[in-house]
Amino acid sequence: MSKKIENTSLNELLKKIFGFDSFKGNQEAIIQSLLDGHDTFVIMPTGGGKSMCYQLPALINKGTAIIISPLIALMKNQVDAIRNFGAEKGIAHVLNSSLGKMEIAEVRKDLLSGKTKLLYVAPESLTKEENVQFFKEIDISFFAIDEAHCISEWGHDFRPEYRRLRPIIESIGKRVPIIALTATATPKVQQGIQKNLNIQDANLFISSFNRPNLYYEVRPKGEDAIKDIIKYIKSQPGKSGIVYCLSRKKVEELAETLQVNGIKALPYHAGLDSQTRVMNQDKFLMEEIDVIVATIAFGMGIDKPDVRYVIHHDIPKSLEGYYQETGRAGRDDGEGNCIAFYSYDDIQKLEKFNKNKQVAEQEIASQLLLETVAFAESSVCRRKQLLHYFGEVYHEDNCGSCDNCTHPKTKFEGMEAVELVLETVLAVKQLFKAKHIIGVITGKLSA
Ligand code: ADP
Ligand code: MG
Ligand code: ZN
Repeated sequence: MSKKIENTSLNELLKKIFGFDSFKGNQEAIIQSLLDGHDTFVIMPTGGGKSMCYQLPALINKGTAIIISPLIALMKNQVDAIRNFGAEKGIAHVLNSSLGKMEIAEVRKDLLSGKTKLLYVAPESLTKEENVQFFKEIDISFFAIDEAHCISEWGHDFRPEYRRLRPIIESIGKRVPIIALTATATPKVQQGIQKNLNIQDANLFISSFNRPNLYYEVRPKGEDAIKDIIKYIKSQPGKSGIVYCLSRKKVEELAETLQVNGIKALPYHAGLDSQTRVMNQDKFLMEEIDVIVATIAFGMGIDKPDVRYVIHHDIPKSLEGYYQETGRAGRDDGEGNCIAFYSYDDIQKLEKFNKNKQVAEQEIASQLLLETVAFAESSVCRRKQLLHYFGEVYHEDNCGSCDNCTHPKTKFEGMEAVELVLETVLAVKQLFKAKHIIGVITGKLSA
């Protein structure tokens, strides 16, 4: 499949088709790897430009590239964008449960005629038997699996249908390369993806996850957390920010509290009707309001470059979630302040919530939660810890842009305290959780 485009370099094509002057990061090497017919695995932070890695080769190659993507809304955006670059509507299509019979017929016609260079498919549509049969009849250039972390139950967004992709691709029976892309792969997730897709020999392209312009801070969450948040927001007049809360109820309450305090804020969560949701989101994007108070439902695919702060009113369920959510600050490489409020009580609430899950899921969830606790309570550079989480080594001793580096915690000799804790744990025969042990030591409970 290897083909250098005669007389036209990739750079020229990038300029001609997309109007960009140069490739970002690893894009060119990734595209070349795919054009050379290699399985290719791309780990690149959000906003790094992953889509280009399959869009350009799809337009260059003979046949249709099948792009598997979990979110119907994101697919539609991409198709619209591609159609804008190309002249013809048929050049890109979606195939998912939102289409009617007529539309499906049109898509199939364009595919058979060879017009379509990119076909965006939801995993559940790919696995449909009638589609599998149909795909056997068309010329496929490669498979792209976007948001590939959905394959791993260690990822923050596990989708069981993603695990069936490899067998389906095999039953379609084309010997074409696979490119998998994700913004969130810890080493564990990375291995899971490669194994499940059977692309252990893929060319790997891993970009740094460091976001030097972001400042990270974790504050203890006491009774004054809300006051703190209001004070902080008021110290940033006219700037855009996101405040994340875990529950819809909290989102509503906090948005209201902010409004009462004269802050232009609106809520966003999956329980609002879609009209209100879109309206609130648009008002934030158009800067009619400064603050959006949201659950994690907010943010996927939203590209507001000048978000100046991300506040976590509640600590997220995993460090990966934390990284993604804070990552929405400072996309333009300008200032981005990330402040998370942490209390162990919240962790216990989350643990309780996990109890409703199945055992295997429960174990994973509590492991992820433990990592978050370790991060929040640690006095090690936040940046170093976050990067370590993504398998990256950060060598600087002082990042200059996190609370632990700029205000190191005071250290004290803790041997006696640790002994006391261990003795207490033994005395209660290791049967109780941290909260109980603390109660015993502080004299609020008896053993
Ligand atoms: P990701 O999927 O990695 O989060 P996207 O593919 O959505 O990132 O790209 C993020 C933004 O970067 C988009 O607005 C895209 O148009 C832009 N972009 C991609 N490649 C380039 C490039 N070579 N030069 C300039 N902008 C680019
Ligand atoms: Mg993307
Ligand atoms: Zn630091």
